[in-house]
Amino acid sequence: MPNRSTAPPPRGGKDSTRLFEAFGVVPVERTRGLENVQAESCPSCGGAKFSFDRWTSQFQYSSLNKCGLKGNGLTLMR
Ligand SMILES: [Zn+2]
Repeated sequence: MPNRSTAPPPRGGKDSTRLFEAFGVVPVERTRGLENVQAESCPSCGGAKFSFDRWTSQFQYSSLNKCGLKGNGLTLMR
């Protein structure tokens, strides 16, 4: 069984990395196949160590009492 962190995209899965980049998120880890993408900062408050799931585009940012932003790629577009 493949390790969860290197699992292939789900059927119909689409890499949401570019969507996040469009909102100012700068990925620091681009390892191919990795689900969880680490980014430099939160698109809302600028806090460090933001991360998101590239296949579901879901994210939750609650690190170190920051903004608590959470949702997915569609949330960002609102
Ligand atoms: Zn934030």
